[in-house]
Amino acid sequence: MLDFSLGKEADHFVEIMDVEFDKKTRMTRQRRVILEEIRKTNNHPAADEIYERVRKRLPRISLGTVYRNLDVLCDLGEIQRLELSGAMKRYDGIPKKHYHIRCVGCDCVDDAPIAPLNELEDDLYGTTVYEIIGHNLEFTGLCPRCSAQRGQRQAAG
Ligand SMILES: [Zn+2]
Ligand SMILES: [Zn+2]
Repeated sequence: MLDFSLGKEADHFVEIMDVEFDKKTRMTRQRRVILEEIRKTNNHPAADEIYERVRKRLPRISLGTVYRNLDVLCDLGEIQRLELSGAMKRYDGIPKKHYHIRCVGCDCVDDAPIAPLNELEDDLYGTTVYEIIGHNLEFTGLCPRCSAQRGQRQAAG
């Protein structure tokens, strides 16, 4: 009989359950929490930010474990690693192809509400010796906050 009132034992039991569960779905409790935290907001967080959020729920998790799980979640097609310029490697809870707008003022990233331009790749067909496997398109601009700040500075100056 398992006594769930025993903290340590219960923890151990949860870990065993996670491994059992992992065999079928490859979704451990840690991995599920990481996925939930990425999908909770739409701000395309970097690994550090994901780590900070996950740590509030799983205090013993390490940054290395978070990185490893992010790799696996990318491989599983649950999330994607964004190929954007800017300082940080960001992750997206929406695995489907879509474009982004990056603010040059504060480096925040938002989804661009347009459909993927797949015909761009079709247009290239037969015109290059390369086999085209994809494309990246990034919009840059000023977010409303940075835009307002710039307006205030201009009004003041
Ligand atoms: Zn901004
Ligand atoms: Zn996105």
